[in-house]
Amino acid sequence: MKRILVTGGAGFLGSHLCESLLEKGHEVICLDNFFTGRKANIVHLLGRPEFELMRHDVIDPFKLEVDWIFNLACPASPIHYQFNSIKTIKTSVMGAINCLGLAKRVKARIFQASTSEVYGDPTIHPQTEDYWGNVNPIGPRACYDEGKRCAETLFFDYHRDNGVDIRVVRIFNTYGPKMLADDGRVVSNFVVQALRGEDITIYGDGLQTRSFCYVSDLVEGFIRFMEDETGFPGPLNLGNPGEFTMLELAEKVLAKVGGDSKIVYQPLPQDDPKQRQPDITLAKEKLQWSPKIELDEGLDHTIAYFRKQVG
Ligand code: NAD
Ligand code: UDP
Repeated sequence: MKRILVTGGAGFLGSHLCESLLEKGHEVICLDNFFTGRKANIVHLLGRPEFELMRHDVIDPFKLEVDWIFNLACPASPIHYQFNSIKTIKTSVMGAINCLGLAKRVKARIFQASTSEVYGDPTIHPQTEDYWGNVNPIGPRACYDEGKRCAETLFFDYHRDNGVDIRVVRIFNTYGPKMLADDGRVVSNFVVQALRGEDITIYGDGLQTRSFCYVSDLVEGFIRFMEDETGFPGPLNLGNPGEFTMLELAEKVLAKVGGDSKIVYQPLPQDDPKQRQPDITLAKEKLQWSPKIELDEGLDHTIAYFRKQVG
């Protein structure tokens, strides 16, 4: 059993990860500054002796004795990562440096939650790990995209120069219970709007595509990658290759929730990628991993969760 640090552990993905690690019998230290994370996501874990919560910001150094580190700290929704873009870059870059420094010192295996955003608005489809991406370095998404790209660089430099044992995952859009109702990402927005009988806001013509992975599938992939003893550092795509337009997603959500919501069209944000689909050949080969929960089932679980949240 390992002692494991999860940065961003009170967020959407982090809180599911903390739960799964505890279920496997590990000790978990959850570090979070609660920017987009919530105590409500982890409050049920607080009484457990194997679980510890640290309010801390990853841009400030910290010392711990751990076997594994999962570095998830970083706001993931465009509205939140653009709220303070410079802080987002600091979180990605200085957070990576602090976590990697710790990993080097205590010889911990370290995981980086990177993103399909490193591919930017991709010119190849589906995206494979050897694609270098098409990112606007000065646009409104750059604080996140370039911050994550720089973090990947740091991970591979620490690996090459200092022998740090790294695992870099490129996560494609993931959804599920424990997203914030006001998170701003498309699945939570559409579900919450439909449940409240509000207009469903499609940005642009709604023909842009995304591939949506259910949270439990993703977390299973995270843990398999960390358990993998072959030393393969990544980068590794994790996501569900099922690809949908935002219009198809809106129609699915409306059909499931019912009610009188109407679809309305709003301007497309600058540099919004036109299409996204992970090529997961490598994850299948290296981890024997592929997602099990398709969008219809995942949406049912997500709608059931938000029904309780937003009444
Ligand atoms: P989230 O916003 O719910 O979680 C991020 C967590 O990090 C929050 O708990 C937040 O409070 C914490 N955090 C932010 N800045 C911090 C700082 N400076 N110090 C300490 N804690 C800080 O988002 P999420 O969807 O759970 O994403 C988790 C990670 O996965 C992020 O790194 C994100 O970039 C990555 N990711 C997620 C997705 C997705 O679809 N969910 C896709 C690609 C990558
Ligand atoms: N989107 C939308 N309506 C919303 C929120 C998002 O049409 O209320 C679109 C957004 O423009 C993008 C897609 O949905 O094309 C996915 O957006 P999200 O913020 O979830 O993720 P990302 O763009 O980072 O993949």
